[in-house]
Amino acid sequence: MKPMFRQVEPSVTMGLDAQARALHDVGCDVINLTAGQVDLPMPDGGKEAVLAALKEDKTGYVPAVGSADVKAEVRRRMGWQEGEVLISAGAKPLLYAAVACLSGPGDQVLLPTPCYTSYPEMVRLAGGKPVFVPGEADRDFIVTREALDRRVTECTKAILLNNPVNPTGAVYDREALEQIARVCEKHDLYLIADEVYSSFVYEGAFVSLYAFSSIRDRLILINSASKTFAMAGLRLGYCVAAAPVACAMGAFLSHALGCPCSLSERAALAVLAMDGGYEAEVRKIFRERRDRLCDALSPIDGWAIKKNAGAFYLWLDVRDWEDDVAFCRKLLAQEGVALTPGSAFCCPGYVRLAYTKDVQILLEAAERMKRFVQKNYSRASGVSS
Ligand code: PMP
Repeated sequence: MKPMFRQVEPSVTMGLDAQARALHDVGCDVINLTAGQVDLPMPDGGKEAVLAALKEDKTGYVPAVGSADVKAEVRRRMGWQEGEVLISAGAKPLLYAAVACLSGPGDQVLLPTPCYTSYPEMVRLAGGKPVFVPGEADRDFIVTREALDRRVTECTKAILLNNPVNPTGAVYDREALEQIARVCEKHDLYLIADEVYSSFVYEGAFVSLYAFSSIRDRLILINSASKTFAMAGLRLGYCVAAAPVACAMGAFLSHALGCPCSLSERAALAVLAMDGGYEAEVRKIFRERRDRLCDALSPIDGWAIKKNAGAFYLWLDVRDWEDDVAFCRKLLAQEGVALTPGSAFCCPGYVRLAYTKDVQILLEAAERMKRFVQKNYSRASGVSS
């Protein structure tokens, strides 16, 4: 086996999710808040499109980077005039294709942290070096231009930015995005933008990096139907990038992955053409979940609960109490609530809660967490570290 694989870790979030599911399957009363997976049904129009495609025997290969009608719909939806569209089996292959086409041995990719668990491993798998750029806790971990500037070297090829952010739920506003665009221009870097949570912004409108026309030739914009249309298992992602990069990524994907799933493409075509009502409805549900959950958690002694502005994650500070992995293990063992340690996102000392369950289940989880904190860390318990 190649030595490089000794350094690459399997996905921690998927591993924890599997552990919580296994406990549930043997009869344990587990509330699994680890997986970043929307628990609502996908739009009916998408389901009907899949069934119709099956009946019409549309089960053959489709073009390697997507059928023309799906690409045209993506272009229309994103309002993108220039550049090329790629369709693939989710955002992940597109992210990896971008990283692999833009960086390799000796190259560096800047990763604002905390970051999505797969980013560092994607860079390592491509042979490059992830360079972490920590955000400041009191600025919602939004990275600044200065912090990025300090870490740029002659080996830096790209910045990989996720907005809204998994795991913190923070949202970069126009000004913060502009700062990042400037860094890319100044140092001649590519910007790989992962906007898979773009429909989950609770205050104000989402600003896509597409808004900054001066960086379009260095922008690789990636989105997906997984979160927006609750279609994670159908594996359908899309990307827009300047033609030379899109060409390279397309060649990579055609050899490494083949083509997108023919049925998922039909579903995507149907849901992308919808008017935004489904997304607004889902956003409303998730906003209510967030508000009810934060209200239920806020009375916990000594725990500052901050509402996230985007995605569907609460990012909870446990630094005063316990190592984040130990916190998650104990909480699962004592109360059957599964959360993800911040270490999985290159940020120990925090834990991530995915509120991807019904309100009643979330309120039960909050009760259990309250009991857990009181028992283990409240001043009265004498165990607080
Ligand atoms: N990017 C981020 C930030 C994610 O959180 C996820 C899924 N959790 C992905 C990409 C992968 O999305 P997809 O299912 O479209 O591959």
